[in-house]
Amino acid sequence: MGYVVLARKYRPRNFSQMAGQEHVVRALTNALDQRRLHHAYLFTGTRGIGKTTISRILAKSLNCTGVDGRGEVTSSPCGQCPACRDIDADRYVDYIELDAASNRSIDEIRDLIERAAYKPAVGRYKVFMIDEAHQLTKDAFNALLKTLEEPPEYLKFVLATTDPERMLPTVLSRCLQFNLRPMAPEVVREHLALVLDLESIPAETGTLRLLSEAARGSMRDALSLTDQAIAYGGGQLTEAGVSAMLGATHTGACLEVLQALGRGDAAGVLQAADVLRQSGASASGALDDMAKMLQRAAVEQAVPGALEDDSPDAAGLAALGSAFTPEELQLTYSIVVHGKADLALMTDEHAALVMVLLRVLAFQARTAPPAAPRSAPLRAPSPPSRSVPATSARVDVGASASAAEVSRADAADTVRAAVTQAWNASPVAASAVAPQIAVAEPEAVEPRQAAMPDKVAEFTDAPAADAVAPLSTAKHVEQANLADLAELANRWDAAVRRLAEEGRLSGLVKELAWQGGLVAWKAGPPTVWRLRIAHESLRGGALKDKLAESLAQSFGVPSQVELEAGEPGDTPSRRDAAERARRQAQAEAVIREDPLVQSLLTQFSTARLVQGSIKPA
Ligand SMILES: [Zn+2]
Repeated sequence: MGYVVLARKYRPRNFSQMAGQEHVVRALTNALDQRRLHHAYLFTGTRGIGKTTISRILAKSLNCTGVDGRGEVTSSPCGQCPACRDIDADRYVDYIELDAASNRSIDEIRDLIERAAYKPAVGRYKVFMIDEAHQLTKDAFNALLKTLEEPPEYLKFVLATTDPERMLPTVLSRCLQFNLRPMAPEVVREHLALVLDLESIPAETGTLRLLSEAARGSMRDALSLTDQAIAYGGGQLTEAGVSAMLGATHTGACLEVLQALGRGDAAGVLQAADVLRQSGASASGALDDMAKMLQRAAVEQAVPGALEDDSPDAAGLAALGSAFTPEELQLTYSIVVHGKADLALMTDEHAALVMVLLRVLAFQARTAPPAAPRSAPLRAPSPPSRSVPATSARVDVGASASAAEVSRADAADTVRAAVTQAWNASPVAASAVAPQIAVAEPEAVEPRQAAMPDKVAEFTDAPAADAVAPLSTAKHVEQANLADLAELANRWDAAVRRLAEEGRLSGLVKELAWQGGLVAWKAGPPTVWRLRIAHESLRGGALKDKLAESLAQSFGVPSQVELEAGEPGDTPSRRDAAERARRQAQAEAVIREDPLVQSLLTQFSTARLVQGSIKPA
C-alpha cells in the first residue's frame, strides 16, 4: 500500500477523537444520545477544520449496527460494523457527499432529490452531505427547499459551507446550525505531537510550534504541512529545516503568483495563491514579499545584471522582468502595495488577497488583439469621465492655475474638442494611431485611483490572420544562415499569431510559443519545428508536445517540436515589444508636434505634458 497522507490516515473516526470543536461534539453527542434528531444540519467554518469529518461521524452514528450487529443509533459508533467501515472507506451507498463547488446546477440537485425518494438501501438513514453548499445556484437551492422542509423520516441532510452569508435565508432557517471554529494553535500542536509519536518521527519541539502556527487553525493544513516537512527533512523534523521549508514554499509561491500575473493566467494565480494559503503565509506578508520581488525585478529590468547572482531567486526575478513591460511592473507593484490596506476590510484575509491579485488581471486591458502574448499592457491612470475614446495623452493644466484664470473643466473641454478636431483633420489620424486627450485635474487623482487605469485605449491593428507564410517543402532540416533565420523568424511569428488567434495557446505553452525562436524547420509529416528558448523552465515537461499538438491541429499536419537551450534571437514576443515601442514613439511625436497641444503649453504657463500618459491606440 502506498503512503497515506497524514490528514487522511489520522482523520478522526469518532467524536472522542475530534480535536477541537468540543461545543459541536457535545451538542451532537447529546442529541444522538437523547434521540433528538434534526433532519438538516448546517456546519459552517473555514476549510480544513472538520466539517466533512463530523458529517461522516454523524452518518456512522445514525447507521452503526455495533460489533454484534444489534446496535442502535449511537453517539459512539463502533468503527467495525459494515456501516462504520464502509462510511470510513467512502463506499457506503446510503451516505452521499456532493461537492457543490463542482455539482452546483439544478440537474445534480434533481438527481439527488430523486435518490431521496428511495428508502435507504442498507442503513437506517440516508445521509446527504452537500459541501460548499453556498455554491449551489439559486434554482438548485429552490429545488432543494421542499425536500429540505419535509424530508422523509429516513433522510438527513448535512450542509457545509465556508460562507454561510451566501446561503439563502430560507435554507438557513431549515437547518440546525453549528459554527466550527478555527483550531487553537495549542490544539493543533498537541495533535501533531500525537501523530508524529504514532508515526515514530522525531521532531524538535520548535517544529510543532512553527507548523501549528503556519496552519492558521486548520488541522488539515497542519497535517499536510507536516507531510511536506517530513519529505523535506528526509524523515525527521528539525526547526531549521521546517523553517526553511515554510520560507521556501512561501517565496516560491509568491514568485509563482507574479509569474502567472505576467502571463495573464488567472487559473495559475489562484493555484499559486492556494499554495500560499496552505503554506500558512499571512496575506500581508505575501503582498510585502511580492512588492519586494516586483521592485527587484524592475531594477533588473532597468539595469540588467543589477541583481546579485548569488541570490537564490535572481533567475526568477530576471524572468519576471521580461514577462512584464515596465508600465505593467509599476502598476502591479502599485496594486500590490495598496492592496495591503484592503486586507483588514475583509474577515477572510486570503479571500482579500485573491481579490488584490485578480485586480491586477482586471486592469490588464482585455482589448489586446488575440495574438498578443498576454493581455495588453496595463494602462496608466486617467480620470474616467474626462477621457474620450481614443488614444490618450494627458495635458496637465497645472496645479497653480487658479480658478480666476481659467475654469479647469472648461479648459479641459476646449482642449479636448480642439485637439480632437485637429486630430481628425491631421493626416496622421488616418494611420493606426489615434490620440486621446484627457485633461487631468492636478491633485484630483487619489493615490488609490492612481492605481486604477481606465480601459479606453485599445489595439486595433491586430496582425492579419492570413499572414502565415506557405510552408516550404524542403525535406531536410535547414542549417540556417542569416537570411534563413529571418525567414524562419517570419514563419514562426506568423504561426504563433495564427495559433493565438485560433485560441490554441494557453498558460506556459503560450509562453513557450511567444518566447521561442525558430532555428530550424523541416517539412513533414511530421513537420519539425526546432525552437531555441532561453528559459529553462519552458524547456521541461510536456510543453513542447502540447505546442506540437496545437501546431498539428492548426495546420492539419502531424507536427513535432524540438527545443534547444540558448538565446532565441528574433521571437514573436520581441516583435510585439518592438511594435509597441514603435507605436508609442509615434504617438508621442504626434502629440508633441500637434499645434494645439503646443499652443496650450504656451498659453498656460503651468501646463505640461504628463509624462507617460501618451498611449498609442
Ligand atoms: Zn459501527
